[in-house]
Amino acid sequence: MRSYRKVCFMRIGIGYDLHRLVEGRALILGGVKIPYEKGLMGHSDADVLVHAIIDALLGAMGEKDIGTHFPDSDMSFKDISSMVLLQKTMQIMENNGYKIVNIDSNIICQKPKLMPYIDKMKEKLAPLLNLDIMSLSIKAKTNEGQDSVGEGNSIASQCVCLIEKV
Ligand code: MG
Repeated sequence: MRSYRKVCFMRIGIGYDLHRLVEGRALILGGVKIPYEKGLMGHSDADVLVHAIIDALLGAMGEKDIGTHFPDSDMSFKDISSMVLLQKTMQIMENNGYKIVNIDSNIICQKPKLMPYIDKMKEKLAPLLNLDIMSLSIKAKTNEGQDSVGEGNSIASQCVCLIEKV
């Protein structure tokens, strides 16, 4: 079978994630701790935005998904900062000879309001991704009160990325 990984210089990836909101957990989104009465449930810090970004990057490279690279059966990843997982993903990018062109992402969250924290998330994530702020888009949306996200029981995130061969 022909390997397109060898002939394509630009590749796109898509990532999606959702975590349940529960009491007794810190809410971490885009590496930023957000004051709220609930946090996201997960094996790591459950940073749903960073997980969507990681899966988009892995997908663009043709790598297996986040759960394969960082399995929740591995106790070394218990409560780990997703920023560390992102750093490991960037190492995989470097090993494969890719860099990111741009990222666009959504956080779908009914409560709390995320707009005050978006710039802070970009400031934290952009250096890790080797991107300038204008090449890293993070948008916050509600789910209009519908479904588990809209009812405040979960937060979801979507991400697309473009990467190029260095
Ligand atoms: Mg996740």
